[in-house]
Amino acid sequence: MSLTDLAPDYIRAIDPYVGGKPIAELARERGLDPAAIVKLASNENPLGMGARARAAVLAQVDGLARYTDDHAFELKAKLAAVHRVAASQIVLGNGSNDVLSVLGRTVLTPADSVVYSQYCFALYPLITRLAGARGIEVRAQEYGNDLPAMLKAIEPATKIVFIANPNNPTGTLARAGDIVEFMEDCPGNVLVVLDEAYIEFLPAEKRVDSLALLRRFPNLVVTRTFSKAHGMAGLRMGYALCAPELAELMNRVRQPFNVNALAQAAAIAALDDIEHLRATVQNNFAGLRQLSEAFGRLSLPYIQSYANFVTFHCGDARALNEFLLERGVIVRPLASYGMTDSLRVSIGTEAENARFIEVLAEAMGD
Ligand SMILES: *Cc1c(COP(=O)(O)O)cnc(C)c1O
Repeated sequence: MSLTDLAPDYIRAIDPYVGGKPIAELARERGLDPAAIVKLASNENPLGMGARARAAVLAQVDGLARYTDDHAFELKAKLAAVHRVAASQIVLGNGSNDVLSVLGRTVLTPADSVVYSQYCFALYPLITRLAGARGIEVRAQEYGNDLPAMLKAIEPATKIVFIANPNNPTGTLARAGDIVEFMEDCPGNVLVVLDEAYIEFLPAEKRVDSLALLRRFPNLVVTRTFSKAHGMAGLRMGYALCAPELAELMNRVRQPFNVNALAQAAAIAALDDIEHLRATVQNNFAGLRQLSEAFGRLSLPYIQSYANFVTFHCGDARALNEFLLERGVIVRPLASYGMTDSLRVSIGTEAENARFIEVLAEAMGD
């Protein structure tokens, strides 16, 4: 008997989540100067957190001996005003991963199934397996969510459909009209999670009005995060907007105090920092242009991206990744997503992108 046997089969079957390699780890492993390392692996904001959020964090430090407001009255009031929803429709999480996981723990049992796409965000199969539920992976269409096929894959046991839009790790975008149609055709007893982690990077005309859909469809759950465009990945803050009765259940399931005081204060400040958001989005558009121009020049095919990263095809991704790491450039290998011939690179500052392109060109013998 081994201690491992104590865990149910479905827990032992879980593959650990592998995140982007931290700068300090690469520096340690290869004896590199951390300051010379460029990390473009986790879709973080290359401009950092905004000045307003930073000031809010610092102002909060003296109060850290106290427990937070578990109901986050101020932050929820702010989010409710920004999104024109009721505070009772908001569930906060220690990152939106936490919210997704709370949803799984709230509704899933081993008798249920969950529908998601090939090349979907790694958390969806993980949350499914944590509950002992069955994952139904629907073949992607041109690396994106095949919404009609996902609709067809729904069975009586299905409780959740996960749709990331834009999708990570491929950067694809579903058309707004197709999402609306999906909601219209989806059975009302199936929860549809629209994961909008990258929504801020989309031009207005490409966005689906998910908040209007929320009013029409009580089975819709919209998730957002402060980790990407708001530059707060290390603080951990995300949330779901959904029907009040679902939010009420999820609030029973989440851990008390799951959003720390610094994250609450920073999020409130970040919502007012339009300048920082604008600079971030502008940098991203410029970076997407810079990278696609380089991929074109180096004849590397890539997936057109609507987010803050680009997935490109490069043959032996393992070898190229090793070449990049050796020279202090961290990108994201996608073998765990079944894409062994591709790498995902996050948009950095112009200089970081240029360094990545320089090493990439060297690898291509250019
Ligand atoms: C990064 C990301 C998240 C957000 O994760 P956090 O836990 O909020 O940091 C959620 N969904 C997708 C698709 C992502 O890429």
